[in-house]
Amino acid sequence: MSSKQPADGLAADQVESLAAVLAAVRAGLRTRPALVRHLGLGRNVVSQRVSQLIDFGLVDEGSLAPSTGGRPSRELRFRAEVGCLLVAELGATELQAGLSDLDGVLLAQRAEACDVAAGPDRTLARLEQIFDELLAARPAGVPVWGVGVGLPGPVEFSQGRPIAPPIMPGWDGYPVRERLAATYQAPAWVDNDVNVMALGELRAGVARTEQELLYVKVGTGIGAGLISAGRLHRGAQGAAGDIGHVSVLDDDSVLCRCGNTGCLEALAGGYALSRDGSAIAQSGRSAALADVLAATGQVTARDVTAAAGAGDPASLALLTRSGRLVGRVLATLVNFYNPSLIVIGGQVSSSGDIFLGELRRTVYGRSTALSTRDLRITTSPLGDRAGLLGAAFLVADQLFSPDCLGHWIQNGSPAGRPDLSGDGVAA
Ligand SMILES: [Zn+2]
Repeated sequence: MSSKQPADGLAADQVESLAAVLAAVRAGLRTRPALVRHLGLGRNVVSQRVSQLIDFGLVDEGSLAPSTGGRPSRELRFRAEVGCLLVAELGATELQAGLSDLDGVLLAQRAEACDVAAGPDRTLARLEQIFDELLAARPAGVPVWGVGVGLPGPVEFSQGRPIAPPIMPGWDGYPVRERLAATYQAPAWVDNDVNVMALGELRAGVARTEQELLYVKVGTGIGAGLISAGRLHRGAQGAAGDIGHVSVLDDDSVLCRCGNTGCLEALAGGYALSRDGSAIAQSGRSAALADVLAATGQVTARDVTAAAGAGDPASLALLTRSGRLVGRVLATLVNFYNPSLIVIGGQVSSSGDIFLGELRRTVYGRSTALSTRDLRITTSPLGDRAGLLGAAFLVADQLFSPDCLGHWIQNGSPAGRPDLSGDGVAA
């Protein structure tokens, strides 16, 4: 719904200011005077909203804050412990799941191998089993306030369904959000995995002070999440950032898993490194990769990056080409959109300086001087945790948004309200 409409029993402007005060307390503002200064709201309004948030059980106040002159003020605190969130990130070959508080603090987590190509029923049944085990470890009496999941493919965010995902046979149009919301009787949100990771970096990682961020995952496939003006930019259908299928080679010799030819990820992702590494091993052009193939029966992207690190010229050439191709596409994005920070995540990026060095050289060499003047390119410090933390903030940010908050705050909790993530409620 639009925030202009009144939410159940509370005036729309009251919900707006409640959400603003709550967001500021969640972001770390601790006193009423600080809220007044930060939000530009009157002292009375801030005082009333803080009292309401305390009554609703979302905020409490503790010890006296250090006085800066005038009356001392009690420190406010967001009560992140009153609900818990179930969060997950499904990759092509691995599943990560966690239980977090309302502030993205992971209370428990699990990771295991998982073939997403086994289809939604098997994959989600296993995820639900793990969620149930994680729930058994939660503090007594803490209800599930929401579920957040990242999927390795395009997701129509408003519906919570994957749409024609190239590496997820059987998932096209599957109602992932509805299923999880019904199972846990709580609102659920589903998004593309790289969007979720970008959100994790923005809210809990290296990008906390950034407004213009590009998060790029170079794993088996390649994708990007875009933060603009401090918010995730999903585009009209939720498909923004799918740079893996940008055409970088104008011939039809290299087929991509999406069915097209010449896509970036078909030439530069982990899948491409594995495929080309195997071909090189078989051709005899690399003794190192031939040894790997003989010993294990396959050449993985990890094998190629390890051989490159040990100085194998053919592997070095593959990894350098990958860094250059990704760098060219990023240079286009830098010229187009002028981010201040690019965070590179995913397995290929963690291989070290060879890939990143070539990527950096290409981005700085092919972007305009102004767009790269203050541009930083860095790896993800959160690593594997970016997805789970991002999924927690995805849910929390939706729950506490003005559009959603007004529908549940008077009941004190969104638990038992799977409808809250349905059409017409949340943003
Ligand atoms: Zn493609």
